[in-house]
Amino acid sequence: MKKINESFTCIHCGKEISQAVKTCRNHCPYCFVSLHVDGDIPGDRNTGCKGKMYPTMYEIKNGQMKILFQCQKCGKLHRNKRADDDEVENLDTYIKKYKETLY
Ligand SMILES: [Zn+2]
Ligand SMILES: [Zn+2]
Repeated sequence: MKKINESFTCIHCGKEISQAVKTCRNHCPYCFVSLHVDGDIPGDRNTGCKGKMYPTMYEIKNGQMKILFQCQKCGKLHRNKRADDDEVENLDTYIKKYKETLY
């Protein structure tokens, strides 16, 4: 079995990220950028895209925050739950910043 909950270095801000214990994290808790590695099923690592995915918006349903990411390379949209240690108070700022610089 391949272990997927491992620590990694953020491809965007370069910070060392240790994995949240209960979630299968794939985005950075600081800048919220992730790599497009999954295909249609979250966690399947079934794409060769490897583009950068940036947060574009978020929504809160039943008290749970979901963040919508878009791949800058292929345009694929992907929804992901926030992780407990995400610095979500900065999320708005980052979304605005990415919109200004990327689109
Ligand atoms: Zn980062
Ligand atoms: Zn992609």
